[in-house]
Amino acid sequence: MDRIPVAGPSITQKEIEYVTDAVTNAWYGNANMYHGRFEAAFAAYVGRKYAMALPSCTAALHLALAGLDLKPGDEVVVPETTWIATSAPISYVGAQPVFADIDPHSWCLDAASFERTISARTRAVIPVDLYGNLPDMDAIVELASARGIAVIEDAAEAIGSESRGRKAGSFGLASTFSFHGSKTLTTGEGGMLVTDDEPLYRRCLQLRDHGRAAGGKMFWNVEVAYKYKLSSMQAALGLAQLERIDELIARKREIFSWYQKALEGFEGITLNSEAATIKNTYWMVTAIVDERFGLAKEELIAALGQEGIDSRPFFYPLSSMPAYASWPQAQGARSRNRVAYNLSPRGVNLPSALSLTQEKVRYVCDRLRRILARQLAA
Ligand SMILES: *Cc1c(COP(=O)(O)O)cnc(C)c1O
Repeated sequence: MDRIPVAGPSITQKEIEYVTDAVTNAWYGNANMYHGRFEAAFAAYVGRKYAMALPSCTAALHLALAGLDLKPGDEVVVPETTWIATSAPISYVGAQPVFADIDPHSWCLDAASFERTISARTRAVIPVDLYGNLPDMDAIVELASARGIAVIEDAAEAIGSESRGRKAGSFGLASTFSFHGSKTLTTGEGGMLVTDDEPLYRRCLQLRDHGRAAGGKMFWNVEVAYKYKLSSMQAALGLAQLERIDELIARKREIFSWYQKALEGFEGITLNSEAATIKNTYWMVTAIVDERFGLAKEELIAALGQEGIDSRPFFYPLSSMPAYASWPQAQGARSRNRVAYNLSPRGVNLPSALSLTQEKVRYVCDRLRRILARQLAA
């Protein structure tokens, strides 16, 4: 049997046809034909006025923050548990990331912890829809708007997820998505910025195009800015994937249900949660293993690897990593952000690729049970 991959896309004839059409026809006067269609369809899907296709979610977060005009010393709150792409752009614009704890059930930003991190310098918060779940957006948005703090939702992992019937990507001032090859909807590499705020949208259009004003003189730059664009081939791939989004999400939810079934009755593993108000699209099926097994995630990943199964570590707390070792905002975070520090050493992302079969999920769960049983016997 081939190795079981941890993540990967579903590509059909439709994607091949759209990309073939783009590489054949999206030149000259038609160069942008797929961008417009992809952006309009994406904005309609998440329920936003504006969507801007970008080379990555990192670029989308960078632009959104740049559009806020932060000053050195300004603070932006992020959850401890996320990929560094959420927090790195805060440094790009010269502001300071502040790390808040996560909720023990959703694994997303905890609203009360966010409230405790707010200072006179807090200008923005970036809640993350971790592994397809959503935080308590109502509480976060309310806390933030009462204090004039901008909410930028990092929905990279949650296309199609919902909170109280509202789609991920529709909360706060702006939201961002990733179309990296591991994500539910992919363009290989890519991202999207969505917002209802026209001034922010216009500002980001200029910032992503080397500071050229819309409708301005050719090759005339009014400021030094960035170059963040997606190719037509990627936009075509994204449009094809978006036209199949219900199918992709149904498959993600089905994969999760296979895991639930195969692990039914096994004590000591907690999978992703789905609160009554949430629709979780389970980007990554994730297992937290009970402390009593005394098994670190790195050991579990190695043991699964020996069985031909690829898996990934639950995100390390941002404040624990060398990248932030010298940051004042990381000092003391371990004792403040107990949930993130408690869960991270015991969490593993299990294979969640769209190519998975139920038979493979059964095999993964069988090996997982065996590894854990062996651990208890030792
Ligand atoms: C994947 C991911 C990103 C980064 O996306 P890129 O497109 O690789 O820049 C950002 N935030 C989260 C939570 C992610 O999972």
